[in-house]
Amino acid sequence: GAAPSRGAVGGAAGGASEESEDKVSKEEESLLRKLIHSKLVSTKADLEILQKDPNSPLYSVKTFEALNLKPELLRGVYDMGFNAPSKIQETALPALLADPPANMIAQSQSGTGKTAAFVLTMLSRVDPSKNYPQCLCLAPTYELALQTGEVTKKMAKHMTSVRIGFAVRGERIPHGQKCTDHILIGTPGTVSDWCLKFKSVDLKKIVVFVLDEADVMIATQGHQDQSVRIKRMLSPSCQLLLFSATYDEDVMKFAQAIVPNNPIIIKLRRDEESLDNIKQYYIECNDIDEKYQAVSNLYATISIGQSMIFCATRRTAHWLAEKMTEDGHAVALLSGDLEITQRAAIINRFRDGKEKVLITTNVTARGIDVTQVTVVVNFDLPVTMEGKPDCETYLHRIGRTGRFGKTGLAINMVDSKRSYSTLKAIEQHFRKPIEKLDAEDVEAIE
Ligand code: ADP
Repeated sequence: GAAPSRGAVGGAAGGASEESEDKVSKEEESLLRKLIHSKLVSTKADLEILQKDPNSPLYSVKTFEALNLKPELLRGVYDMGFNAPSKIQETALPALLADPPANMIAQSQSGTGKTAAFVLTMLSRVDPSKNYPQCLCLAPTYELALQTGEVTKKMAKHMTSVRIGFAVRGERIPHGQKCTDHILIGTPGTVSDWCLKFKSVDLKKIVVFVLDEADVMIATQGHQDQSVRIKRMLSPSCQLLLFSATYDEDVMKFAQAIVPNNPIIIKLRRDEESLDNIKQYYIECNDIDEKYQAVSNLYATISIGQSMIFCATRRTAHWLAEKMTEDGHAVALLSGDLEITQRAAIINRFRDGKEKVLITTNVTARGIDVTQVTVVVNFDLPVTMEGKPDCETYLHRIGRTGRFGKTGLAINMVDSKRSYSTLKAIEQHFRKPIEKLDAEDVEAIE
């Protein structure tokens, strides 16, 4: 294909407002993370406990046995391949399963075991001899509700009499009939209808109420109000739980509205990313074809394990993928025109080493940590919507959390005064030199 015009690459708008720029909603991002996280994310950070009742001190467990679970539930947990509680589960589970039940607000990044923790709590408290909903979990979207339902079904594998129902669009209860599922998972709108409009569910009988993905929930219009309305109808003795991947003022305000009474607040920070073991270079080019030539030289010269190349727009990414494929590289392309499940499949293939190069746009790549990547190429430097240097995204693309300890290589392509000043701003921000590399002489890289 022909090179996209300069405008499509580093144009006046600075890239971010391009018509072909990929946008990913919080809901999509969250679902993608779920689809690609098949393992627990480990962290070195310490758990922070912000509020606790001095009369009921928190303790932590190192085994699932120590929790005195129903035997069929314990078997389900082991069948899922869980050997020991995750970091957040160690402290959260004893409190979640205690009597009287504790209310909790818990925040930790995606993949750290929050879902498993509250699913286990629901299954532990449910009584299948009572034919009405006792546990209610609110999720931000249809797909996220189904994901949580899948986990619940898996863990309940040996609890054959437990019925799990979905209160999501398309699911209906015949008029005038009561819901007889034991655990209900749904989106705020449909749950409101079932409980408040059709009176199919008696909220007073709910013993565990879970609000999952609070940060995604508040990003969706109307979800916050509906959730608060549902919460208000619960019995005062109902256990209230709220989970979130991030923790800022908005989330916290919402959390206090959902879980007002003296909750235990647990936080697990993300491990810090840093540029410490990363060698950073830049290559000066005059246009996109020269940038391509430089990338080409790079791949021909140095031995590269797995690498990612970031482009500002979908169009550039497609163009680059086509060119590199013509040149015989095994390239994967991740862009916003793909369905979430297709994206997850591409990321998983790349993780399995099926392709060595992953070309992607800025936004579609959010949330993916591919730890085996050692070389990152910024075909376009990251800029914000306003066209300002986006240091946070730069760090996220290039940076590593200390625990991987591997050295990495970052190559930045510069093709205009504007991109050069972006580069300089990023260099100054992190106070780490970005060395110039001659396009013809990439062997200079150690
Ligand atoms: P979160 O809700 O914080 O995103 P999940 O509960 O979905 O985290 O857990 C992330 C991944 O780790 C899932 O694949 C889950 O099956 C797995 N997992 C959760 N808890 C454990 C555990 N204790 N041991 C092993 N794997 C676990």
